[in-house]
Amino acid sequence: MASLDFARQLIRDVPDFPQPGILFKDITPVLADPRAFQAVLDGLEDRLHGGGFDRIVAIESRGFIFGAALADRLKVGFSPVRKLGKLPYQTHRIEYALEYGKGVLEAHVDAVMPGEKVAVVDDLLATGGTAWGAAQLVQKEGGQVGAFLFVVELAFLKGRERLASVGSPVESLITY
Ligand code: AMP
Repeated sequence: MASLDFARQLIRDVPDFPQPGILFKDITPVLADPRAFQAVLDGLEDRLHGGGFDRIVAIESRGFIFGAALADRLKVGFSPVRKLGKLPYQTHRIEYALEYGKGVLEAHVDAVMPGEKVAVVDDLLATGGTAWGAAQLVQKEGGQVGAFLFVVELAFLKGRERLASVGSPVESLITY
């Protein structure tokens, strides 16, 4: 059985993408390899400890890939969080801090039902601003963030500290 070490070996560093100075962690080789992809999904599922989650909320766009597959495994619903202007129906919005400047995230007003326990999923935790914004949207709709779940964590960017105010467990599989 393939391990997370194997998946880690497949993650490709792309310097200066999408802008100079960023070392982009390209997870597409992990998706392309069925053993590595399954190992990552097994890992994400394990980290939820069968914890009675009602829904996966995942963040555009690579978060959708892992989040949707995980929702299928858990047999729960999936709701997308997207950048401003992409969702067709009425939305809630939240402004969040980017490394340089600000962004806006949206979720449909009925993305999360009041009282639901939600796992917020993305491919990568960097500064934590994006996941923090997604958590605000979940809470605005009356949901409870039961966990944050990431495939990759860039620990030196201290995203965990950014997410501490939410008070939910932060899980990641592969740390740099
Ligand atoms: P942040 O809000 O700083 O935690 O950034 C997280 C979001 O930006 C995630 O949706 C990631 O997919 C993306 N991201 C940030 N930095 C990188 C990186 N170095 N490599 C790949 N994706 C990144």
